[in-house]
Amino acid sequence: SIPLSFFAGIGGASNAGVLVKGSNYLETLSETKYVVFDKTGTMTQGVFEVSGVHHSSMDTEKLLEYAALAECHSSHPISKSLKKAYGKPLDPGRVTEVEEISGNGVTAKVDGVRVAAGNSKLMEKLGVDCMECHSVGTVVHMAVDGKYAGHILISDQIKPHAKEAIAALKKCGVKKTIMLTGDRREAARQVAEELGIDEVHSELLPGDKVAQVEKLLDEKGEKEKLAFVGDGINDAPVLSRADIGIAMGALGSDAAIEAADIVLMDDDPLKISKAIRISRKCLRIVY
Ligand code: ADP
Ligand code: MG
Repeated sequence: SIPLSFFAGIGGASNAGVLVKGSNYLETLSETKYVVFDKTGTMTQGVFEVSGVHHSSMDTEKLLEYAALAECHSSHPISKSLKKAYGKPLDPGRVTEVEEISGNGVTAKVDGVRVAAGNSKLMEKLGVDCMECHSVGTVVHMAVDGKYAGHILISDQIKPHAKEAIAALKKCGVKKTIMLTGDRREAARQVAEELGIDEVHSELLPGDKVAQVEKLLDEKGEKEKLAFVGDGINDAPVLSRADIGIAMGALGSDAAIEAADIVLMDDDPLKISKAIRISRKCLRIVY
């Protein structure tokens, strides 16, 4: 039978905005020693602002229009931001042959012209030479009609409590914090450094994130538990693979919320350590 205080634990957690899907997760959570995060939407707001547009031939407005149209069916945070930056209504009737390539970007035909928007890996796949970009932030490279058309520089904001959240995890005995992201190295490293995250792996495809977590699971001791915290559709496989999966509940995808064991109702990363502390308090009452 389940001790009564487990119910109190789940109730207490839910009052703190932490939804625990079962009492067994409290025990696992109390032994968390490794916390692995996704970057976009977990440690950052996941809302990008366009900070610059660099192009060769096309004008800024036209480049943004192509980007917004090519992205018109995607719900990726980058896509939402590009549509918002363009700001005008989009006619999906102008867009055909849309393909979203997970961890890379999108390709589509806009007014019958081939358009691609994504990272340098996407350009490489398409055989398009792309301009190197040394600026900080995330880069959306554009190809129009098979030719490089420039890039849109976008930047995301770190969440208000993110730095405090990492410090609080260290304080409650977490040995290592690790960030995994599909974003490029420069953008990833900047966030990890600013937050004091121990280890960072960038330019990962969704499958690479699972592989990284599996490697960590193999290396750690059995009594040491690993939590993964994420928000996106791509995060669902890692959330299920980790000892404990924690999803951002407010802006997170349904797939991530479904796959998680614990949901942070207000997307606040500070709630991770709070949940660990609640679980330990509740277990001390039991044993
Ligand atoms: P994260 O690990 O940050 O959640 P994703 O795996 O969703 O990132 O995407 C990794 C990278 O792939 C992004 O940083 C971006 O460069 C590119 N990308 C993915 N989806 C899109 C899209 N819809 N439009 C443009 N670029 C994209
Ligand atoms: Mg993500």
